[in-house]
Amino acid sequence: MKLILTFSLLTLVGTCSTPKYTAKLQNLKDNIKITDTSLIKFYANTIKKEELKTHLYEFSSDKYEGRKVGEKGQKLAAEFLKSYYQNEQIASPFGGSNYYQMIPSDFFSNNIKSSENVLAYIEGTEKPDEIIIISAHLDHLGIDAHGEVNHGADDDGSGTVALMEMAQSFKMAKNAGHGPKRSILFLHLTAEEIGKRGSEFYVSHPIFPLENTLVDLNIDMIGRIDDLHKEDKDYVYLIGSDRLSKELHYISEKVNNTLFNIHLDYRYNAENDSNHYYERSDHYNFALKGIPVIFYFNGVHDDYHRATDTPDKIDYALLEKRTKLIFATAWQIANQENRLAVDANNDFLN
Ligand SMILES: [Zn+2]
Repeated sequence: MKLILTFSLLTLVGTCSTPKYTAKLQNLKDNIKITDTSLIKFYANTIKKEELKTHLYEFSSDKYEGRKVGEKGQKLAAEFLKSYYQNEQIASPFGGSNYYQMIPSDFFSNNIKSSENVLAYIEGTEKPDEIIIISAHLDHLGIDAHGEVNHGADDDGSGTVALMEMAQSFKMAKNAGHGPKRSILFLHLTAEEIGKRGSEFYVSHPIFPLENTLVDLNIDMIGRIDDLHKEDKDYVYLIGSDRLSKELHYISEKVNNTLFNIHLDYRYNAENDSNHYYERSDHYNFALKGIPVIFYFNGVHDDYHRATDTPDKIDYALLEKRTKLIFATAWQIANQENRLAVDANNDFLN
């Protein structure tokens, strides 16, 4: 058994680094064609830092009491998102006025009360059964021991408002006849701070078949700059993009090189990364199901998990640019000819 294992490992490693495999990767890369660059630019430019700021000041305000899962403030936050999508006439995947995937309290431990994931949906025009998920978490840490509200402006207010703006832009495109060919699910997850429980619930009770879920683009903290980038703030960490789908990685790179030229920093993507960021936010539950993921992250900063993570410290121009990158990546996956392939099923690679 051990011999076979070693042999297959050697062959696999052998295969992955052979000139033949490298040629296959190059072929895959060359075959990615960015669809309708001018349309992507046009709709990406409807993502506005002013709107991101307005939403974020509201969402991270004291009114939501730090959005602790199952508590009043978190419920108000869910209501805020639902009424936003209703106002924008962006549908729920359930139809009607129900935008919630309810999670019963017995799914949680420690007397956590029932909670809800909030879902908004833009149906694809040609391949509606193929689903692109863009996710962020709506919960945070509540009120601390000193009675201070944990505002969670960056964590994960930044991801939350990015989803709201991207949904609005895709809706605008759809209204103008440029709707995505594949469907997009905007997934606001609860209970991330208590162990990624909202995404765990979603993947075990999926609203759309997981086998038709092509990717999860997960955002958790993209509104700030960490100490490592004080001199080079035009960056974002990408984690996981090449783990399950080389095609996803190349699409992400090509979209960025074509439209934004943000410094995509992969230092936390190393298999042996001591921070284990790949396992530390909601995308991980999708990756565990074999769904390709990209985790967008700006790194930790002095206000991480403190009451001082407030909206006045957010770099809104950077948040806008990073949101546009994620929007354009989703647009490409939703509109390209071929369905995004997982490496295992990728004809280019096998
Ligand atoms: Zn977070």
